[in-house]
Amino acid sequence: MAEKASTSRSLSRRSFLKTTAAAAGVAAVAGTAGVAAYAAGGPEEAAQNKEVIGSCRSNCGGKCPLKVKVRNGKVVKTEPADMPEGDELYRRICVKGLSQPQRLYDPDRLKYPMRRIEGTERGTEEFERISWDEALDLMATKFTDVIDQFGGSSLCMWVGYGSQGFLNGADTHGTTNIGYGRFSSKVGASSFDSAADWGGIWGTMLCGLFSTGSTVNVIGSKLIICCGGDPANSMQGEWTFIKKAMEQGARLVTIDPRFSTTAAVSDQYLSIRPGTDAILFMAWCNYLMDNDLVNYEFATKGSVAPYLLKEDGTYLRNSDLGIEPAMVMDPNTGMEVPYDAYVVWDESTNSHSTRDEAVQPALYGQYEVGGFKTTTTLSLCREAIKEYTMEVAAERCGMDLDEITALIEEFASVPSSFITYNGFSHHNNSHHNYKSLALLAALTGNQGQQGRIFSIGGVMRGYFVLDYAECVAPDPKPVAMVPGMLFPDVMANGGIGQYKINPKALWFMNGNPMAMESGRSELIEAVNKVDFIVCSESVMTDTARMADLLLPICHPFEEVDISAPFSSCPTGYFHPFVKAVEPSYECKTDMDVFRELSEKMGFGDLYDKTDEEYISAMFDTPFMGMFGINSKMVLDAASRAELVKCPLDMSFTEEQTFTNGMTASGRLEFYWEHPAPRYDFGQEVDYSVERVPCYIDATEAYETNPLKEKYPIYGNSNHSRFSAHSQQAHTPLIRELQPEPLVQINPADAEPRGIATGDIVRVFNDRGEVVIKAEVTEGVRPETMCIRQGWQSDHFISGHAQNLTPRLMNDFCWNSSFYDFLCEIEKVEQGA
Ligand code: SF4
Repeated sequence: MAEKASTSRSLSRRSFLKTTAAAAGVAAVAGTAGVAAYAAGGPEEAAQNKEVIGSCRSNCGGKCPLKVKVRNGKVVKTEPADMPEGDELYRRICVKGLSQPQRLYDPDRLKYPMRRIEGTERGTEEFERISWDEALDLMATKFTDVIDQFGGSSLCMWVGYGSQGFLNGADTHGTTNIGYGRFSSKVGASSFDSAADWGGIWGTMLCGLFSTGSTVNVIGSKLIICCGGDPANSMQGEWTFIKKAMEQGARLVTIDPRFSTTAAVSDQYLSIRPGTDAILFMAWCNYLMDNDLVNYEFATKGSVAPYLLKEDGTYLRNSDLGIEPAMVMDPNTGMEVPYDAYVVWDESTNSHSTRDEAVQPALYGQYEVGGFKTTTTLSLCREAIKEYTMEVAAERCGMDLDEITALIEEFASVPSSFITYNGFSHHNNSHHNYKSLALLAALTGNQGQQGRIFSIGGVMRGYFVLDYAECVAPDPKPVAMVPGMLFPDVMANGGIGQYKINPKALWFMNGNPMAMESGRSELIEAVNKVDFIVCSESVMTDTARMADLLLPICHPFEEVDISAPFSSCPTGYFHPFVKAVEPSYECKTDMDVFRELSEKMGFGDLYDKTDEEYISAMFDTPFMGMFGINSKMVLDAASRAELVKCPLDMSFTEEQTFTNGMTASGRLEFYWEHPAPRYDFGQEVDYSVERVPCYIDATEAYETNPLKEKYPIYGNSNHSRFSAHSQQAHTPLIRELQPEPLVQINPADAEPRGIATGDIVRVFNDRGEVVIKAEVTEGVRPETMCIRQGWQSDHFISGHAQNLTPRLMNDFCWNSSFYDFLCEIEKVEQGA
């Protein structure tokens, strides 16, 4: 008989003490005997008492290698993994890593498959326990029915970035993930993903900023500007390197609308009006050009600044002048490829030349070459941004003219680094910021050298050489890939662009979009229209609450896997997982769920290799072979609590790197010759806007919006040191440290509204509201409020912070616009 399941998430003092006392008790026993002594007791005892490597998968970007201590078959402690001499800075951990045992043994962990009780409403948490056999039968029947009736695309899979293993979890649509990728391509499912940070990622990838600096390289800087993030608070991996650079004499300057933790430990803090960053960057570029402070060598050798542009906006190349492309060796592949040289104006000869042959390429000017009227790329961009003077920036960004002038002069005159995070990519149109940043990098040359980098907070390391062939099914069907935020449009219109999609079943995994994505109310409304919803999760979340069927999923310490590369500041080491302990309760890995479901759906041969064989197929490439590295070695080392270093270290040396190989031109691009949207659904691309550095007001959160009369407060959010998104939302220790959500507002806004710290307030706009406790602080700008992200609906007094945010997507980069909203705040009178 079905058993009514408990899904209580409330934290009581008792449950917290019970969890920690149990862990401490086991730890205390273990502490009296060494690991070696246990291991000496034989294989069974060794399995019960051991130390292994298990990276932290908290999606903070750090991927800290953890040493996981197991005593009597239980994980009792996590601590930073030991690092060889020279890599001590990678030995790190934060409270999120330290509290992983509690996450593993969370009393509120989902323990067995559960089905919504028939006749109950979605979201009311009326679930009954069922067996895995029943759960998988139900999924197989429903999925097969909708695929037969409406096509594979009617099965929608919605994935986040919670975990990014080769086998389990997934990243962008599972294209680098075996479990998700094989299943979705076998049935031709529609794949929806988290759209959150793509404004920044897309912008920097197109510019070439993505690959040209790791935070490791800030050491040696004399000045570091940190903008759009709070690494001292929420990104331990990043912060260790910034701190080291500061110890060696770097001056840290933070630009943020919030007086963040990083701002508090900076040498200088500059407050900026939300969403106006690009205006400041463009004003700085103008200042450098107007005052002859441009780094000529870098601009001409490392960027597209001297390339001649034709009137149609494309570069002048040798072929335009009737010269056949030459064959050159591609440094990445070693293959001969045609190279159609870019043409520049050579001031030493006063004639045109190629970029590689010119002695003195011109940065500015208009030139007639081979019948083409051309201009240098820098001249065209200078014209595009000329209205943004320092005075304009001071006015529109709400900053001090002298301060921003002194800062750019310093930045251009000493080895400097610019570290950015996704905080300023959360307005609609904010991807344009990255062209301005790329121009700033090109003009200063603070790029591609130890102590001189522009970075979006880290770099991808060494995994480009993986073999992703097994991440698709044999004879794959096309998978429609769509940003999750467009789900309501897909639902309303029966698809999008070239994709016909009739969503009939929805499977959430590896993420919590119903709490984390903006435009939450609209998303929930659309999702609720789907006939059958499955959610793979480890605890009850806002997304899990929507499910008809809940599948309990393993913690990473219960899996064998290797973590995928995408991360902001990973270490120079591989990130393996060996099974520290057996799965708790009835939890299964994603991979096992895919295997067993495929069997039930009649294609059990889809996963015809063991987990280890799949890991090997992906990892054991000829490249790894050249270095004598294989996956078995990495996993074996992890089981001895040792790490294997990745052979591709992208750290810079003292030598300046002028090329990055990530862009079509092989140089830093602040001008996009062929702007390409992240998803092409047939939307029109406005080339005049997408090509050049520019600023476009946010859609709602901008100074002159008439809506500010009604809703005068800019919305904002921040990340916490205690949780990565919603991953630690239920961890007892974390709930003790961070018991409830707060809205931060400035005294200048609080006083006229009669609000004091501790008051209950209603934050609202036309989209929705959240009722929450107030914290009055000078730490946010006037006219700005901030609510830390990651909370679940049951943490708020009522409503949800994401009910305020818009479901806005820029149709070029398709990112979430978390901060692009205005709101009002009022005190809720007690008893009202
Ligand atoms: S949350 Fe991030 S910084 Fe903290 S231990 Fe995990 S990976 Fe490291």
